[in-house]
This record gives sequence, C-alpha cells and structure tokens, in this order.
Amino acid sequence: MNVLIERNFINGAWDEGSTGVSHAVINPVTETPIGHVPEASAGDVDRAVLAAIDAFPAWSALRGSERAVYMRKMSAAIAAHMDDLVPMQMASCGKPRAEAEADFRGSIDCINYFADRAEELDARRVTPVDYDIPGYRSTTRLEPMGPVGFILPWNFPMKICSWKLGPALAAGCTVVIKPSEIAPFADIFLGAAAQEAGLPAGVLNIVNGRGAVTGQALAEHPGLRKISFTGSTKTGKTIMKAAAEDVKNIGLELGGKSPIVVFEDADLDLAASLAAEGVFYNCGQCCNATGRLLVHENIAEALAQKIIEISQNQIVDSPDNPAMTIGPLASKPQYDKVTGYMDIAREEGLNCRTGGGRHPGFNTGYFVEPTLYTDVPKTSRLWQEEIFGPVLCLRTFKDETEAIREANDTQYGLAATIITEDEERAERVAAQLDAGHVYTNVSVAIPPQTSWGGFKQSGIGRELGPWGLAGFLEVKTVTARR
Ligand code: NDP
Repeated sequence: MNVLIERNFINGAWDEGSTGVSHAVINPVTETPIGHVPEASAGDVDRAVLAAIDAFPAWSALRGSERAVYMRKMSAAIAAHMDDLVPMQMASCGKPRAEAEADFRGSIDCINYFADRAEELDARRVTPVDYDIPGYRSTTRLEPMGPVGFILPWNFPMKICSWKLGPALAAGCTVVIKPSEIAPFADIFLGAAAQEAGLPAGVLNIVNGRGAVTGQALAEHPGLRKISFTGSTKTGKTIMKAAAEDVKNIGLELGGKSPIVVFEDADLDLAASLAAEGVFYNCGQCCNATGRLLVHENIAEALAQKIIEISQNQIVDSPDNPAMTIGPLASKPQYDKVTGYMDIAREEGLNCRTGGGRHPGFNTGYFVEPTLYTDVPKTSRLWQEEIFGPVLCLRTFKDETEAIREANDTQYGLAATIITEDEERAERVAAQLDAGHVYTNVSVAIPPQTSWGGFKQSGIGRELGPWGLAGFLEVKTVTARR
C-alpha cells in the first residue's frame, strides 16, 4: 500500500482542499521532496470541524466497548502496514529504523491501552456520589467534551497524535487533526487506518497546512471544545490566546530543558550511557531530552571523558545505513536553529569538548555532530534554552542541595533523570524536582500507563494514563430530591 497520502481527510473521504496550493515535505538527508500536501484554508478547517460536530452525537452515544472495537481495528491497520510506514518515517524524519519502528509500536500500544480504558468507562460513566445529606441524592456522569482539535509536532509523528487520539476516541470525542507541515505523512495515514477500521465518517478528520493559517483557524474555531497541542512554548502561548476567545479547554505539552543529575556514588558507565541517550535519541529532538547535565564535581571529568568516547563512537549517517545511530535533524529550520546555538557557543567562548558544528562528512543533509560543552555558565543561552538537537551541556555541583537548586533553576519542568546508587537519596531528590516525570537510573521511556506533561512553562494538563482520558471528559453532577 502507498502510505504516503498527499491529501486532507474530511468526513470519511480524501480531500484535495480548496486552495490549490500545496507544500513540499523534504527528506532531511537528500534535501529533496518526498511528497506534497495541500494547504487547507480556514474554509477547509471549517468543513472538517462541521463533519466532527455532525459525527459527535452518534459516536458519543456508542458504548465504550463499541468504540474500543473500532480503536483496536485502527491499531491493527497500523500494525498491518508497518513494513511501509517505517521506511516512510525514516525518509520523512531521518530516524534510525529502530526509532521509526518504536514510533509505530508506541502508537499501537497507546491506542490499545485506551481501547481498554474505553471498555472500563462503561462501568464508570454514571456513579452515585458518596454522601449523606438529608433530602439529596447525586450522581456523577462522565461525558465526552465534544469535537476536539489536535495541533501536532514533527518529532514523533503518529506517536504523539496517538497520545491524544486514544483518549479522545475512548471518551467519545470526535477529532480534527492538524499534522506538522514538516512530517505529516504518518499522521495522515491515520485517515487510512480509520477507513480500514470502518470508523464512522467525521469521527476523525485531518487538515494539512501551515501553523499560522490552518493551525490558527483550528485553534480559533468556536465549534471545538478543546485544543490539544504539542510543540514549542512560544506557539503554545499563541494557541492559548486563540483558545481563550471562546474559553476552550486546552492541553499543552510544550518544551523542556530537562536536567540529568549524576551523584558521586553513581555507576559512571550507566551515567554516561544514559546522559548520551538522553540527548542523542531522535538526534536530540525530544521534548524530554536531558540537555542539562549536572555532575558532582569529583566525578565530572571522568564522566565527561566517557561521554566524549560515546559521542565519538556514534555513527552519524542516513537511515539507509543499517549501522547508523544518529540521523540528520528533521528540517532546515531545525538545522539552522541547532547550528545557530553552536555559533552562540563559540561567541560565548564555551568549552567544546567534542562536536560543535555541522558534520563534516556530508555535503547535503541536515547533519550535525554530537556535541558536549563543559563548564557551561548558568547564564549561557545554551544552558537556559531548549536546543532540540544532540547538544549536551555540563555543569558541576558540590552537594545535593545545590544540585536540586540548579536542576530547578529553569522556566521548564517536563522531565528529570537522577543517577545514584542510593535509593533513599533518589526518592528524596525526586520529591523536590519540578518535573512531570522523574527517572532514576533508567532511560526516559514513556509507557502509556504513566502520566506525561510538565510543570511551569512545559505545559498544562497531563497526557496518558487515566489523566489522559480525564482530559477529554467533562464531569457533570446530577442532584435530585431523595
Ligand atoms: P511549533 O511549536 O511552532 O509547531 C508545532 C505545531 O504547531 C505545528 O503543527 C505548527 O504548524 C503549529 N503551529 C505553529 N504556529 C501556529 C499557530 N500560530 N497556531 C496554531 N498552530 C501553529 O514548533 P516548530 O516546528 O517551529 O519547532 C520549533 C521548536 O519547538 C523546536 O526547535 C523545539 O524547541 C520545539 N518543539 C517542541 C516539541 C515538543 O515535543 N514539545 C515538538 C516540536 C517542536 P507548522 O506545520 O506550520 O509548523
């Protein structure tokens, strides 16, 4: 099957859009187009929202167990086309094969997890309130919010969409999806999966286009009851303002500058491998990338040496090379942003221990070197700002109090990693870190059962787990005379 579908998906049908304008989707290795998608106008967005509004009464009236059947058929359709989806994702994003496969496995697991939650919802939908007030009797009803919109990023196409789609469909919401213009095809394929699953027309709609036009039209549309967004904090603030006009619900999963804190008793090999993985996975283009490395001063140089060795052993190449470990950045704007930070590092006189520039092995493609800076001042822009590339910055600390203070000294609060052999310390520190998910001595994995979302400017609300489902449900209490 051709999984590269160059269309919108509105009311159960593939759609060219009304503008006649399309934009190219660029392979970040060859810098040539792999396909084109139409630019949806505000009118196209309106048609998609109206389709979602029309489909809502029947979809929300189904039992959760009936919706779960459609959802499992959708995840089966994704699984059935993995052989075509994985190479498409590799070409679109420059990801290693294993990482592209993990995106789709993660999507399947997430949709199936929320199919289970949809079944459970049937028993939880209407529950009596446990109180004893003479003359009163109350029940609580969990009801779907209504038609909702998703505005999506390019770093984990389909996987991040499934974090929103799974709970929304389980709750009984209908959806309009705007993929990122940089890597839209995995998200567009969800239209094909919906067709294969026999999902009723209008339950899932997809509109392509630029954020400032298509995304803005979605965020402003009065027919939607929620916008769920993943992307930069800057765009999150714009969406929050647009959604404020008619007091829409919002879910914002935004940026991060997450710390990895390595104590003196740490297993240094483990610390080095987790520090490298935390910033090299997906070429560092992860909201939970642990780009700030805080190390006890007594082990800092030994750890830096190990990370330098791991960095220099990375195989930076096209995903066509099965041995490669790091691909290119996903787009020219992202390449310009990351190399721009490398220029700032030179201007600031940072201590670059390895990498620090465009990868010299390529004439084309958005390849950069895995990079480590040490002794980075707290005031450096590289310490403060989200880079979204394979760039690690190291600072030292003297004691636990200083480590926690430095870890929390940021506008963000998405994730954090602690490396220590002392379990009590790990618990104590985890309790004091401003982060939505704290990891101790493990990779920054995100299973669908756990919560995902940030403190401070890393976002509003939580995705995944029961919290993700709650994010698409309204709570209604009905009180009557007893
Ligand atoms: P954006 O936040 O700008 O884009 C994310 C999504 O929002 C895209 O679909 C984009 O559309 C859309 N969008 C942009 N502007 C608007 C708007 N005014 N109204 C509605 N939707 C809009 O991220 P970028 O792609 O520009 O990446 C920039 C930086 O953001 C990265 O370097 C990284 O730091 C951060 N980021 C964080 C992510 C995370 O996982 N938390 C994911 C991606 C980026 P369009 O298709 O036109 O881009």
